[in-house]
Amino acid sequence: MLEAKNIKKKYGNLEVLKGIDLKINQGEVVSIVGASGAGKSTLLHILGTLDKADEGEVWIDNQNISLLKDKELSVFRNQKIGFIFQFHNLMAEFSALENVCMPAWVGGKSGVRNEGLGVRATTLLELLGLGSRINHLPSELSGGEQQRVAVARALINSPAVIFADEPSGNLDSQNAEELHNLFFDLRKQFNQTFVIITHNEQLANMADRKLTMQDGKIMQSSEF
Ligand code: ADP
Repeated sequence: MLEAKNIKKKYGNLEVLKGIDLKINQGEVVSIVGASGAGKSTLLHILGTLDKADEGEVWIDNQNISLLKDKELSVFRNQKIGFIFQFHNLMAEFSALENVCMPAWVGGKSGVRNEGLGVRATTLLELLGLGSRINHLPSELSGGEQQRVAVARALINSPAVIFADEPSGNLDSQNAEELHNLFFDLRKQFNQTFVIITHNEQLANMADRKLTMQDGKIMQSSEF
């Protein structure tokens, strides 16, 4: 489903990624751990098409994304990839429902009142325990609820893979645990693939596979 071949990246003279090889199967949950500065976010951005490698190839869903031009890449990203960041980046002036619909609107699907989009967004919010919050603004939601809206937004276009960068880094332990359990529920229900950078040991060890990065390389891969 996702394959990286010999990914290298430099910033100036600094070699941030020194040849990363990686294969991830559909429905797998993979965690990436390692000290700050190891290259985790750079790798996630390259796999997620937000940044380009200097060398190597990234394949997602049988497509070599290294060959896509910028416009094709933004369509591909919109259709195939979901993101969850530490800070949810919800749009403050839009409701939970509208925030969830946003990637579909950007991708050219018609408004929330038309066709099945609003129904799908509502269903996802209900599934994530936010059925009574769909018309609330982000400022009217708790941190855990905001992050679950961000999860629903990542799911709206049924992406091939969701990349998460410290998704629970800003949550208290109870909300963090709920979010982690949610990822595994979504994997069970939708066979959703996740690649998750985390400092949270519990989440890292819940994954099917834990990759440890150090100094621009994957040093260790533990299967559970
Ligand atoms: P991690 O996510 O493991 O903390 P990063 O991938 O964020 O590591 O960063 C790896 C190294 O690359 C760090 O030394 C960081 O300072 C450097 N780096 C990251 N992004 C840039 C950038 N846009 N320009 C220059 N250096 C960068």
